[in-house]
Amino acid sequence: MTGKRLGWGIIGASKIASEWLIPAINAAADSEVVAVLSSDAGRAEAFARANGIGAHYADAKAFLADPNVDVVYVSTTNERHVHDTLSAAAAGKHILCEKPMALTAEDARSMLDACEKAAVVLGINHHMRCMETHLAIREILQAGTLGNIVLARVFFGVELPAEAKRWRAHDASIGAGVIFDLTVHDADLLRFLFGNEIGSVVCLTGSTGSTSAGIEDTTMLVVKMKSGLLVEVVESFNTPHAHTGLEIHGTKGSLIAEDVLLQNGGGKVFIEAGGNRKQVPIDTVSPYLRVVRDFNAAVKGEGKPAASGIDGYKSLVAALCAQESSNTGRVVDIPQ
Ligand code: NDP
Repeated sequence: MTGKRLGWGIIGASKIASEWLIPAINAAADSEVVAVLSSDAGRAEAFARANGIGAHYADAKAFLADPNVDVVYVSTTNERHVHDTLSAAAAGKHILCEKPMALTAEDARSMLDACEKAAVVLGINHHMRCMETHLAIREILQAGTLGNIVLARVFFGVELPAEAKRWRAHDASIGAGVIFDLTVHDADLLRFLFGNEIGSVVCLTGSTGSTSAGIEDTTMLVVKMKSGLLVEVVESFNTPHAHTGLEIHGTKGSLIAEDVLLQNGGGKVFIEAGGNRKQVPIDTVSPYLRVVRDFNAAVKGEGKPAASGIDGYKSLVAALCAQESSNTGRVVDIPQ
């Protein structure tokens, strides 16, 4: 593949693709978007025109047979990820799949197996691992600057934009609700930051009127990492005036991060110790650019995806355990 730019084909005429991934794929030195597949021919054509994509398809077989497509980005609604990934793997394409990887652990496992069997790279778009803020925070934790970590808090409260509500707020069969949308991200971020698995979780969910009946728009979780660290995680679709944030409190210092659970880069990170607050310098770079660069490198045998299929599987299993906890009122141990 040396010298040739990797051709990416998009499955799903989605907002995340047009807003973030297509610009990132085309900005990376070694890749470009060459095709899009939509379930609707008119949407495929309009999407290709709006995003400067050379080929558009409504027929999956024809799309997967396109020799210019080396990598498939699965950005369809959640319930379609398993089908789209299995067919792309069968066609020998490398796959970056959106989170949640699937709606069940069994489906996610079948995706891992299919990609392994086809010897194609599978990555999951847990972009927060690629934010400059979280990379800096992980380095601070690894350096021991905060001493022994005593507790942490994650606040992922946002307002779901009107267009994002189409299925996310209403359709349980598609994987609507905060757990499939935000909890998976938080689970992955905790594993990434602390370099440790999630041990158990307890979760309560609420509905404050921004989603259909029976679909949670707010969650509160207590996560216990295998290390014993307790993390409070609060998530909502219905907090229009809130800022997202992360706090990590240790015996030598506290880390306070503001506006760091977002799609764009940026955000602020402070370390407080002995009454002094020091800001950590952070570059503003699109995290999706790093997702794409890491994925391209993995396809070329020069690295790994930022978040692998196994990472996606583990974040999904943690989210499913949160859902089970909410349904049963019990603390749920995460199967390891
Ligand atoms: P969209 O609602 O924008 O698109 C999802 C799918 O819906 C599209 O692939 C398209 O499929 C179909 N669609 C698009 N517009 C319409 C329409 N007007 N009427 C009917 N169907 C339509 O979804 P998002 O971009 O918000 O999310 C896509 C995936 O990406 C989800 O799995 C989500 O969880 C994930 N995501 C991840 C983020 C991250 O940062 N990692 C951020 C945002 C989303 P088709 O054209 O094939 O019919």
